[in-house]
Amino acid sequence: MRKCLEDAVRYVKGVGPKRSILLEDLGILTVRDLLDYLPFRIEDFSKVSSIGSLCAGESATVRGAVQSSGFVGSQRGRAFRVAVTDGTGLLYLVWYNAAFMYGALRQGDHVLASGKVEWRRGALEMAHPTFRKIPSHEVAESGPVIPVYHATAGLSSSQIAAIVRNALEEYLPLVDITVPPNLAEGEGLPSEREAYMHVHRPASPSQWHRGMKTFAFREMFYLQLAVQLLRREAKTSKGPGPFLDFGLADRFIRELPFALTRAQEKAVADIRNDLSQNKVMNRLLQGDVGSGKTVVAMYALLAAAGSGFQGAFLAPTEILARQHRTTFQSLAKDLVRVGYLTGAVTGPEREAVLDGLREGRIDILIGTHAMLQGNIVWRKLGVAVTDEQHRFGVKQRLALPEQTEGPSPHVLVMSATPIPRSLALTLYGDLDITVLDVMPEGRMPPETVLLRPANSYRAYRKVREEVFRGHQAYVVCPVIREGKTSRKSAEEVFENLRRGSLKGLRIGLIHGAMARTASEAVMEDFVFGRLDVLVSTTLVEVGVDVPNATCMVVEDAGSFGLATLHQLRGRVGRSRHKAYCFLIAQEEQGRASEERLAALTRITDGFALAEMDLKLRGPGQFFGTRQHGQADLAAALVDCQVSLDLIMRARESAQQALNLMDRGEAGYWGEALLGEVRRKFGDVFSYSMSR
Ligand code: ADP
Ligand code: MG
Repeated sequence: MRKCLEDAVRYVKGVGPKRSILLEDLGILTVRDLLDYLPFRIEDFSKVSSIGSLCAGESATVRGAVQSSGFVGSQRGRAFRVAVTDGTGLLYLVWYNAAFMYGALRQGDHVLASGKVEWRRGALEMAHPTFRKIPSHEVAESGPVIPVYHATAGLSSSQIAAIVRNALEEYLPLVDITVPPNLAEGEGLPSEREAYMHVHRPASPSQWHRGMKTFAFREMFYLQLAVQLLRREAKTSKGPGPFLDFGLADRFIRELPFALTRAQEKAVADIRNDLSQNKVMNRLLQGDVGSGKTVVAMYALLAAAGSGFQGAFLAPTEILARQHRTTFQSLAKDLVRVGYLTGAVTGPEREAVLDGLREGRIDILIGTHAMLQGNIVWRKLGVAVTDEQHRFGVKQRLALPEQTEGPSPHVLVMSATPIPRSLALTLYGDLDITVLDVMPEGRMPPETVLLRPANSYRAYRKVREEVFRGHQAYVVCPVIREGKTSRKSAEEVFENLRRGSLKGLRIGLIHGAMARTASEAVMEDFVFGRLDVLVSTTLVEVGVDVPNATCMVVEDAGSFGLATLHQLRGRVGRSRHKAYCFLIAQEEQGRASEERLAALTRITDGFALAEMDLKLRGPGQFFGTRQHGQADLAAALVDCQVSLDLIMRARESAQQALNLMDRGEAGYWGEALLGEVRRKFGDVFSYSMSR
């Protein structure tokens, strides 16, 4: 059989049936997926220092033999301490509160370790270094650069590395057409084939960076090509026809228990104008957390219903979909017939919803991506709204309109991740943009306080006070359960709080590994005030609206990005009561991280924070993590600091390529580009080259 990149991954040497299932969990189905599973960072063991030459304050890599190891008491709790020597001196590797290190390093082991050297208790010490045990046959060799992959239970990073190596050997010669080599060359970047070698088997850190840049450029190029193709299509495609009756929507606005902000009024006017046209609406509504995007979306949906069309309201999570349903019930109960469809709605219940949609007994469907799947037939879809668009990718953005035969519906996408203006064009260049830049009256931004772990009792004292006043609080942790990292887990924090500083309060726990019904029940208890405190992972990041919650504690805040922290903080400060956000973080997380956290205590405006994030970490993080169903790509792009400049050049290249195609001069090359766009974003482009 002839090999090709679309071969199932089980054809790669070292992948059996068991591993191919594990790989599938990582989103890797084909050889191409495997090659595109880029390491999100590297460990550089290429420059090894002798221990005798180390100075406090520098970051270094050392290699040596373990003299002794064990747990010792310290001011910061129990620590695992390993004495390492290379014949020139002695260095302690230290892990605080790290039961998982038990037995990881023993006397006689050889180890490579990287980290920051400090002078503590009269000795040189490296706290929480990255390390690798060296097998004895390797001890003599000098340390290479090691790619690090996101691993999964049963498949470690180094096992993935070995599988990728096998794939490269067999399949690398087949890589040639996806990024046209002349484009990469024009940028002074390695070709795609070289880049795969550079990122998966780097000889040096700079080689890895150069390889990553090629992929960054590739992703940006295709994204730009897709966006520009969409823009053309939007200009020419026929809409569902002008909406004629805004009576229902206007009545909804009149009957709201509050007056719209100026920004909301403007947004409503923009949308009304769009919907009155023959052309199809393609609008992005951007507004900081809490700026009141939901009622604007409801206006568009009710305008559809009033004019005899149906509306779709797509939310990224079940929690959010349910919340929107509740909002409709309380604010627009008598105005429209609402249907609800998520993964939890099955069997006859689901059939009933589908029938209702087909026969027009449902005006507005609220739900999750479940409404993008399967055999859904709309009677007359007029408006599709996607909430928290940054949680989806371009591909999902296109899925709803694609579902309908005949004229495309009007599209409204909403995002609470403020995107710097310079980037909005790149990501959403096919959309018109409305910004909600005014907050509802009477809101006070949460007071944000940065605390060291030793002072976290102050945060929990405040939580008690707030609960005593009848308010509620969130506690957010980076991971679900204790594992191979020292990061705080929701389960552990929940147990500790219940027995310790929040004893006597009604505390709930919610995270992504719980059964759906269980997490729904907990969320509902919190929404209806039957719980005082909700301990959770970032599950509550997007959209959750419980105005009575006035206090948030974020454990291990240093492990979250700025945008995520800002989103999280947006869960409080949603009423007239003063709100608090406590960020708890270790000191030694590095300067950029400190700067990020400090910025949050000063800045409450999402756009200002976004500009800051752009400066600190580059634009990579603004690209939806699920852009192409490839979660790690975005993370990797963040790490290699895709520059704004690179994005702009990708945009130009895409424009040029499109011009060539228009003139019929692109030939086979153009076909290949289009094929690749379709592969990445779905078969939604009707563009065909004039030849
Ligand atoms: P987001 O933009 O983050 O999605 P929401 O739409 O959830 O924000 O609105 C946040 C809260 O503010 C909701 O409880 C909503 O009812 C309320 N709200 C929206 N608009 C106004 C307004 N103009 N005045 C007062 N409260 C408002
Ligand atoms: Mg929202």
